[in-house]
Amino acid sequence: MARELLTARLERKECISEVAQCYHFVFVLDELESFPFAAGQFVSGVAVDANGKLQTRAYSLASAANGNKFELCVNRVEEGFFSNHLADLPDLPIGGTIQIHGPHGHFILHEPVTDSILVATGTGIAPMRGFVQSLFPEGGPDRSNGKQIWLVYGTRHESDIYYRAEFEALAARQPNFHYLPTLSRAEKNWTGMRGYVQEHVARIIEERAARLGQTLPVPPVDPAIPAAELNFDVYAYICGLNEMVSSVRERLSGLGWHKKQIVFERYD
Ligand SMILES: Cc1cc2nc3c(=O)[nH]c(=O)nc-3n(C[C@H](O)[C@H](O)[C@H](O)COP(=O)(O)OP(=O)(O)OC[C@H]3O[C@@H](n4cnc5c(N)ncnc54)[C@H](O)[C@@H]3O)c2cc1C
Repeated sequence: MARELLTARLERKECISEVAQCYHFVFVLDELESFPFAAGQFVSGVAVDANGKLQTRAYSLASAANGNKFELCVNRVEEGFFSNHLADLPDLPIGGTIQIHGPHGHFILHEPVTDSILVATGTGIAPMRGFVQSLFPEGGPDRSNGKQIWLVYGTRHESDIYYRAEFEALAARQPNFHYLPTLSRAEKNWTGMRGYVQEHVARIIEERAARLGQTLPVPPVDPAIPAAELNFDVYAYICGLNEMVSSVRERLSGLGWHKKQIVFERYD
């Protein structure tokens, strides 16, 4: 089925890590008054490659809905077609345009908001930034309902902690937002967390259970309860490459978590 294509005009492009060749983009959809979407969804970019073949790639929306604008966070993939097409868009004032369709996807926060563990590596931070903006809108009413929100972000080096200043500033003013970047190849002078995200996720869950007097592993849910009636007091949202997503899912299953509590988006 042909999808309606929208033309998105580049409004801002910023290289947020030279080392990782990661870019933050702001696009405007001039033909629309607003572009509503749920934080965590993605758009599909469409472009013709050098062989005349139409290529489509998904990119998570890296912000909460904001008028007729949307933001992306994309890193160059070596030899990749679309990521380079985006990263090579000429800087302003020329800017240029891309074609997209969307929004798409079901990687969204459960309502009402519960305690939530957001887990990302690399550009998997994109939908998490959207979640965080939607829970703690700048200048708007807090939508987190006082629930505990942990953002566990894994990357190799300090230079690839995307949007660090934003998340640190939010954590400093919002006591229920916990920002936990962890480095797998930290330099000697790094004083923050080290290692892989799954270790830290397990620790958060153990500490939370101890605080609430809950036992681990969580006892299995009665299979007679219909899926639609299952409500949990904590969910995990995981985004990144499949290897990391699988490791975190396995770890959570080992702690007795139900599969409905684990919401994930895989980039590969
Ligand atoms: C739902 C969804 C949301 C996504 N959101 C984002 C996002 O917000 N930001 C973002 O940067 N990417 C995101 N991706 C990945 C994106 O769709 C592309 O796969 C990625 O940009 C590479 O596309 P390409 O055309 O440049 O490379 P291709 O021409 O498709 O691939 C070139 C080579 O690189 C390998 N490759 C493909 N993807 C990756 C990767 N991610 N890392 C390393 N190697 C890879 C391929 O196996 C192939 O060998 C998302 C994917 C999905 C499914």
